[in-house]
Amino acid sequence: MTARIYLSSPDVTEREEQAVVGALRSGWVAPLGPDVDAFEAELAAFTGRKHAVALSSGTAALHLALLGVGVTPGSVVVTSSMTFAATANAITYTGATPVFVDSDETGNVDPALVDKAIGDQKAQGAHVSALLPVDLIGKVADHVALAEVAERHGVPHVVDAAESLGAFREGRPAGQDGIASIVSFNGNKIMTTSGGGALLCDDADFARRVRYLSTQARQPEVHYEHTETGFNYRMSNLLAALGRAQLERLPAMLERRREWRTRYRALFAAVPGVTMFGGDDGATADAGTTVDNFWLTSVLVDADRAGWTSDDLRLHLAAHDIEARPLWKPMHLQPVFASAPAYANGTSERFFRTGLSLPSGSALSDEQFQYVTETIEQFLQKASG
Ligand SMILES: *Cc1c(COP(=O)(O)O)cnc(C)c1O
Repeated sequence: MTARIYLSSPDVTEREEQAVVGALRSGWVAPLGPDVDAFEAELAAFTGRKHAVALSSGTAALHLALLGVGVTPGSVVVTSSMTFAATANAITYTGATPVFVDSDETGNVDPALVDKAIGDQKAQGAHVSALLPVDLIGKVADHVALAEVAERHGVPHVVDAAESLGAFREGRPAGQDGIASIVSFNGNKIMTTSGGGALLCDDADFARRVRYLSTQARQPEVHYEHTETGFNYRMSNLLAALGRAQLERLPAMLERRREWRTRYRALFAAVPGVTMFGGDDGATADAGTTVDNFWLTSVLVDADRAGWTSDDLRLHLAAHDIEARPLWKPMHLQPVFASAPAYANGTSERFFRTGLSLPSGSALSDEQFQYVTETIEQFLQKASG
């Protein structure tokens, strides 16, 4: 094997190449154009939403979603501790403070602990301006329970679905929950526009306001007239063309990742101390079912039972040019957010200490995947021998 094997590399084919060249040749190189409009319509249909706004990143989409629901400086936003830093960073951009809540056994935020955190923050006199749960690593969080908690406290519910596009929970597609939700098309996500994201919502005025804020908040005048601070957060037409080709291929890419999950499951089934992170995968994505998008396959290693640690496996893979990574380090353990309030129960910290994500990309060839599983088998033989 020569090329290093990554966790989740972009999966682009000739189809994407043709789409981008087609957009270039159409003359729509200036930021907006027909591929942006079409991509938005296709994304909205895919996620069961009325509106989608294509933006420059998932982080930008989070920022505008929070502004859109009225998050203000000095308020607090209750969010998942177990997430990528982008979630918490976007909260900070608004001048609000993140409040971190720990996971339940699924890895997603614990709704009962969210209830407690919001109640406690309010009792301390904080203005809780939004609830921002994250769909962790391909699994849609319990937004029915979370929406009930948010509503009872009068707090707007916004969803970070950056990692769950293509997944379902009880028949509802990822991205359909909350006043607004966001997805990411970064290079390592389940589909990519090289860099990009989108905001999804059902309210036409909300979508209009997000488009306005994302294009420097220009008033409808011939000269440039501005009454508030805007952003340059729109997705370009060339990248939207790439996104359209990726969205078409998303079901096939998801199936490929599902295959890796199935094979990892079989590989680790009889290994003591190893469990698959996130529990069940769910059935196939028919209406009414709950199913993962299989973005990443991760294992949890109980070192006492296994006789080795997740880091031992990571180092063995690294020595064979295979990338594997710990699960997200919880935000309440990050130095940058040390002063933010946190409602921790030890679960996310345990996942961080014992979890390892394995190569899961849909661009992996059969040969590459076989090399990965053989390398793991070699490790397991050595570890048990
Ligand atoms: C990737 C990711 C984001 C950020 O998306 P970008 O497009 O990289 O800005 C936000 N939240 C979560 C949970 C993510 O995994």
